[in-house]
Amino acid sequence: MLGLMQNRPLLISNLVDYVATWHAETEIVSRDPRGVMHRSNYGEVALRAKRLANALEALGIKPGERVATLAWNSWRHLEIYYGVTCSGRVLHTVNPRLFKEQLIYIIDHAENGYVFFDPDFAPLVEQLAPHLPRVAGWIALCEEKDMPAAKVEGLKCYETLLAQASSEYDWPQFDENTACTLCYTSGTTGNPKGVLYSHRSTVLHAFAACAVDGLALSARDSILVVVPLFHANAWSLPFSAAMCGAKLVLPGPRLDPESIYMLLEQEGCTKAGGIPTIWLNFLAYVENNREKLDLTKLKLKLVFSGGTAAPRATIEKFRDLLGVFLLHAWGMTETSPIVTLGAPLSKHDSATPDEIVDMQVRQGRQIFGVELRVADEKGEPLPCDGKTVGQLKVRGNWVISGYFKGEGGKVMDDDGWFGTGDVATINPDGYVQLTDRLKDVIKSGGEWISSIEIENLAVSHPEVFEAAVIAIPHPTWQERPLLLVQPKPGTHPTKESILEFLSTRIAKWWMPDEVIFVESLPHTATGKLLKTELRKKYGGQLAVAG
Ligand code: ADP
Repeated sequence: MLGLMQNRPLLISNLVDYVATWHAETEIVSRDPRGVMHRSNYGEVALRAKRLANALEALGIKPGERVATLAWNSWRHLEIYYGVTCSGRVLHTVNPRLFKEQLIYIIDHAENGYVFFDPDFAPLVEQLAPHLPRVAGWIALCEEKDMPAAKVEGLKCYETLLAQASSEYDWPQFDENTACTLCYTSGTTGNPKGVLYSHRSTVLHAFAACAVDGLALSARDSILVVVPLFHANAWSLPFSAAMCGAKLVLPGPRLDPESIYMLLEQEGCTKAGGIPTIWLNFLAYVENNREKLDLTKLKLKLVFSGGTAAPRATIEKFRDLLGVFLLHAWGMTETSPIVTLGAPLSKHDSATPDEIVDMQVRQGRQIFGVELRVADEKGEPLPCDGKTVGQLKVRGNWVISGYFKGEGGKVMDDDGWFGTGDVATINPDGYVQLTDRLKDVIKSGGEWISSIEIENLAVSHPEVFEAAVIAIPHPTWQERPLLLVQPKPGTHPTKESILEFLSTRIAKWWMPDEVIFVESLPHTATGKLLKTELRKKYGGQLAVAG
């Protein structure tokens, strides 16, 4: 027997209509590349999103067509998020930090007819345009007076397009499985692949993100969105914040610690989301300027951190310097991205501060709406005992079923499980501990050594800024760990001091065979250590036999 409840499609336009009606005055604050503050609100953003929908119509962009952005976090980018998706087109957020060849590949692969770009990117657009004949128009996100002098055909001004369009527009109704956004994974090997989200997956994911043991969002929050709008839908914040009417603070390109601090203080931010590297620099700034700063003015309570593992030292510093709880998240572009979050359980009420940090360094527990398991090579589930290491597999309503245009072939097994390529344990409480990427694992004498864990411990050393661990060949043990260290500016740590520091914290057989000091470590366009490059450069090194 079927239930007798209404069945309305889950569309992003419902979120936008809701927030524009009931939280119209809630602010959307942005800082532009020159550092100038701009204040808007949900009511205005939604109205301008409707103007944009009419402008897209006038440009002849059909439903389902992909519209690209090359843009920082700003109110205009948010308007495009809403205007493009709610009108039935697909927003393709392009990561401007990718190599030129990758940008050309993905803009062409997505068949983008129009690219909206921040004027900052005009030199990049000039380089890209000759290779992208399919792109009919490049729309600069500015007013006429600020138009860049770029030599590209089809250059248009965003504000002029909006001014010419009406704000009268009824969002269309369509199937909730319709595509809404497209985001390419950076692909450290091979070409980037497109992840195509649907309205349904996005709305369901936003519900989960809002929940109290999710990102705990509310209308009383002011959220600093450090995570770029071009990376995995900025962890759902454009949608989940609209679902509950939270204020958004969009920092533009300036992500230096001083700018972040200023925004947190000025805008009364209660929550903030970004990758660990951002927080590392931010905390160093707070620590070094403690005398100058009035920390009592900060309202920050919760920081979401994901993309790479949050080191213990970062979690402790947030707690000790600012009284802030770091909520550790794990996910992938392919999973919308949130799968696990490190919210405490009631048992943690009686835990010691150290035990709470022990919980926080793990990648968190699965939230409802997705399923997670560790599996062996045959795909069979492994026990959640906190010890047994296997590949993380995930399935659920906001997990990929295949890449755009079928690239990469079949991605799910027959039961719908998607292999994440991450290796982890899950403990009896459900907390995931990521040990490695499958392609980065170090197998020594048949046992796995966790590069992530050694890296995290190494960055707790007072003189270490960043660390990377890779496998090097060994005549007896097949592989051994090599530790690469970027010292903190002005410090000169020694190999001995680092090894001594690690020796009390990890098993003897996990101890790196060699420590090499480097000026900087290479990163991907999404801020992850580029281990392929490190292996190319240092992987040939032979470990000390014995
Ligand atoms: P990319 O586009 O670079 O693939 P993703 O955000 O999709 O970016 O990357 C997902 C991967 O990032 C995961 O498979 C995992 O390896 C890593 N990752 C994400 N969150 C964490 C975390 N909290 N700790 C460790 N690694 C993480």
